[in-house]
Amino acid sequence: MESPISQYLGTVHREISTLDEGQPSHSTPVLAEGDPDGFGIAIATVDGHVYEVGDAGQEFTIQSISKALSYAIALEDHGFGFVDERIDVEPSGDAFNEISLQTNGRPDNPLINAGAIATTALIDPGREGRAARILEAYGRFAGRELHVDEASHRQESRYGDRNRAMGYLMKSFGIIEGDVEQALDDYFLQCSISVTARDLALVAATLANNGVNPVTGVRAATPAVNARVLSVMSTCGMYDDSGHWMTEVGIPAKSGVGGGIIAVLSGEMGLAVYSPPLDEHGSSVRGVETCRRLAGDLQLHFAHAT
Ligand code: GLU
Repeated sequence: MESPISQYLGTVHREISTLDEGQPSHSTPVLAEGDPDGFGIAIATVDGHVYEVGDAGQEFTIQSISKALSYAIALEDHGFGFVDERIDVEPSGDAFNEISLQTNGRPDNPLINAGAIATTALIDPGREGRAARILEAYGRFAGRELHVDEASHRQESRYGDRNRAMGYLMKSFGIIEGDVEQALDDYFLQCSISVTARDLALVAATLANNGVNPVTGVRAATPAVNARVLSVMSTCGMYDDSGHWMTEVGIPAKSGVGGGIIAVLSGEMGLAVYSPPLDEHGSSVRGVETCRRLAGDLQLHFAHAT
């Protein structure tokens, strides 16, 4: 017997499946091959229940959703003061790949490409290397071991000259120190980590649960870092649509050009959607609509008084 939540998600999925606007990203061949009909929704609650509908088990690349998780790692490694000196927390209002830096070379926030590349450069390689640390930390959020889509990793690098330009510009300002090529390669790798909507719902539920994965019970972020990540997602998570998003949907979220979106309802649940066709801001059309629909039906907007 299907639970009422699964039935409700089935209805939302069926209705939003008819939306056929947008196109998968064409920035790399792997992204361009994203299935325009692929559509999955997953919800994970902070008490560890997971509800899935549609293609919630389909793997795709995490892309910009990685930026929120790498920010958590860099903050855990260095603390707020050190990271804040190099990466600000102001919404830029610019597109994700805008070459926008402050006059001292500091990127506006960690969720645009410049800020994300600077963030990855701050992740301590430790003994195992930065890539292994990134995979391990993301795996703690998702509650399973993740892997890199190697074709995507190669293509992110091959078509990554704009990101490379930002990396070198930040190196010239001293925002990135050390091996900038390595930092860029690690950034391309983190964007290429394969996830499913189910994985992302658990990532979102971990953020909703003060940094502890609700299924494994493993801590992925300290409460202070977790709160900071959510704050920045609230103001900067949806590219140059972040203001409208907060007004209409009112839940901290992050989207990626692979077609994924996570949305976090603190203390309650994480929501994730997968659907590759994107809107003009680079966010999944069906993903945005699903979040808007759920926020309306379930009264999830932060300003909603119960
Ligand atoms: N790998 C993409 C880039 O750096 C990520 C963009 C995104 O998901 O917004 O351009």
